[in-house]
Amino acid sequence: MIVILLGAPGVGKGTQSENIVKKFSIIQISTGDILRNEVKNQTGLGEKAKTYMEKGELVPDELIIKMIENRISKTDCANGFLLDGFPRTIEQAKSFDQMLEQKGLSLDKVIYIDVNDDEIIERLTLRRVCPTCGAIYHLKNKPPKQDMICDICGSKLVQRSDDIKETVENRLKVFKEHTKPLIDYYEKQGKLSSVSGLGNVDEVFGRISKILGNL
Ligand code: AMP
Repeated sequence: MIVILLGAPGVGKGTQSENIVKKFSIIQISTGDILRNEVKNQTGLGEKAKTYMEKGELVPDELIIKMIENRISKTDCANGFLLDGFPRTIEQAKSFDQMLEQKGLSLDKVIYIDVNDDEIIERLTLRRVCPTCGAIYHLKNKPPKQDMICDICGSKLVQRSDDIKETVENRLKVFKEHTKPLIDYYEKQGKLSSVSGLGNVDEVFGRISKILGNL
């Protein structure tokens, strides 16, 4: 099963990916997570990506495409994978189509999670994450049991540097300009299903599960 989760930043792609991975036993590939790791480890790619990420801009296509090509060639992808945060441009989508064709694989489904801008801004600016285990919290809707401490591993929670209001607004602008056209791109391929990302995590997951369960 090869699936793409498409949606603006903050619609819940990361949270829903965690659920999909558990229920459907496929692996998740999050380009944002890979890049944050590269930045943390101060690799060459991390150094290049950092300035774009801090401003909420897209990292150049050629870097991302090479990164994904390497990642999906690993053996753990043999039984399928879920992409979260890729593709984000038409150029990336076209390259991905070619990669799959060369491997004799095909994309099963693109799920677009739809949420309005005001809700996204509230979700992202109140999001806190665990730098150690990656758990995601929301100060209002899913607060940790102990103030700013991860329920799972006890680390101190942090705010992602690109979750401040100005950067969130820029990320939304970038999404509309570069990533939204992918809705049309995959609609034309007959691969797109849209779900509302409003409601609680379980409600949204129910909508997604129904689509994936029918594949
Ligand atoms: P995310 O965690 O998916 O919101 O990604 C965080 C940041 O990483 C984005 O704002 C971009 O700067 C960069 N990024 C992640 N995925 C991509 C991609 N497919 N293309 C370009 N930049 C990306």
